[in-house]
Amino acid sequence: MKEPLLNIKDLKVSFFNNSGEVKVIRGVSFDLQKGEVLGVVGESGSGKSVTSMSIIKLLKGTGQITNGEIIYKGEDIVKKSEKEMMKIRGNDIAMIFQDPMTSLNPVFTVGSQISDVIRRHQGLSKAKSREKAIEMLKMVGIPSPEERYSNYPHEFSGGMRQRAIIAMALSCEPDLLIADEPTTALDVTIQAQILQLLMELKEKIDTSIILITHDLGVVANTCSRVIVMYGGLIMEEGTVDDIFYNPMHPYTRGLLQSLPKKNTEERQRLIPIKGNPPDLAKIVSGCPFKERCPHAMDICNKEPEYYYDGENHRAMCWLLDNSIKKGDESNGK
Ligand code: SF4
Repeated sequence: MKEPLLNIKDLKVSFFNNSGEVKVIRGVSFDLQKGEVLGVVGESGSGKSVTSMSIIKLLKGTGQITNGEIIYKGEDIVKKSEKEMMKIRGNDIAMIFQDPMTSLNPVFTVGSQISDVIRRHQGLSKAKSREKAIEMLKMVGIPSPEERYSNYPHEFSGGMRQRAIIAMALSCEPDLLIADEPTTALDVTIQAQILQLLMELKEKIDTSIILITHDLGVVANTCSRVIVMYGGLIMEEGTVDDIFYNPMHPYTRGLLQSLPKKNTEERQRLIPIKGNPPDLAKIVSGCPFKERCPHAMDICNKEPEYYYDGENHRAMCWLLDNSIKKGDESNGK
């Protein structure tokens, strides 16, 4: 088996406040192969964005990696200094965020911001950087890129701004692109176009992608593998087919039931997951989904292990343990 591009082992991240430590990531392990598109799905508070910020060591506020390794191209990112990380960010690993306005500076033209990134990371001359920036704007489908180069962000539509951000992120041809809710702020048609564009560029540039989203529908057509996160843990991991056609975890099944089905004329009853996403400060032990799970049992007060269906499909739920009597759904809350 080939060395993965990224291998995260037992990652734990905490934030610290006046009341003490809040464990936000509680032991996450997964890997990413070169050229792969991995979807990371979960509601807000699941830990998906904190996981991605850990990969580029840009945790906000008091966030700290308290355990684990993030092996990227054979080296542990956790041990890297800020100076070393500055070389990796943008060059090797790039990131796209949900709101393009927060990534673009309103007082500089879009083109100059892209050529700046190219100049800084690739050491090209001003003229060459400009040329490459125009090429990138063209590649992401911005019409009249030479003229648009001199526009300010407010002169771009939301969809065009996100395209410009993608151009900026991919301008240094990173090996890994982390896209955190890249289409959430956009309307549905533009969402589809941006996702399509990302997939086309992935082929051209041969970038691996981690696509973070709260929407399982978004991963269906774009990802090869999916991780479902909840309460700072991976609840289920598998191929897109595993997750959509053979979900093992009650939370994954809940997410799927709350998803509108395509290509059906029948009126559909969408079943939302009851309750609210977990308050990470309050999760002490056991399965983090137990407060909302219709199958919770006494044993769910203890953290479940992973159970496997085949080599690569795993889920963390006591229901998958054949030695436990499922009649005992006594709701051990
Ligand atoms: Fe539900 Fe228990 Fe499984 Fe958690 S471990 S998902 S509470 S049955």
